[in-house]
Amino acid sequence: MESKQEHTPCPTRLAGDRLRSVGLRPTRQRIALAGLLFAKGDRHLTAEELHEEAVSAGVPVSLATVYNTLHQFTDAGMLRVLAVESSKTYFDTNTSDHQHFFIEGDNEVMDIPTGGISIDGLPDVPEGMEVAHIDVIVRLRRKSS
Ligand SMILES: [Zn+2]
Repeated sequence: MESKQEHTPCPTRLAGDRLRSVGLRPTRQRIALAGLLFAKGDRHLTAEELHEEAVSAGVPVSLATVYNTLHQFTDAGMLRVLAVESSKTYFDTNTSDHQHFFIEGDNEVMDIPTGGISIDGLPDVPEGMEVAHIDVIVRLRRKSS
């Protein structure tokens, strides 16, 4: 079924491979959105931001589809949802364990450099449970001076 014209890894191919590796069917829309998402390294973005990028890249896709696709990618482990604000969902292309700064006013999410935070004195967890993940969001604002 697959066309065999390998060698130079183009973004479309990489996106298709990535989708297949997590068990998602590489539809044209998923490939286009994954291509946009993962072409720029680690980043944090909302469905609205990705939708804008898709529109300016000439990808005909609705905001609802972008939203659904982001959640499918998240369920497949390709993205992490950040609970920064209740009004907006930020998706992180870096699914490794790391923490975030959130700049209030600018609504910008930034990674805290590795080793920048240490968490002490965690409570004992109930029997049969383990800590899956700890989210720390350090909220920043610009100094008024
Ligand atoms: Zn991050």
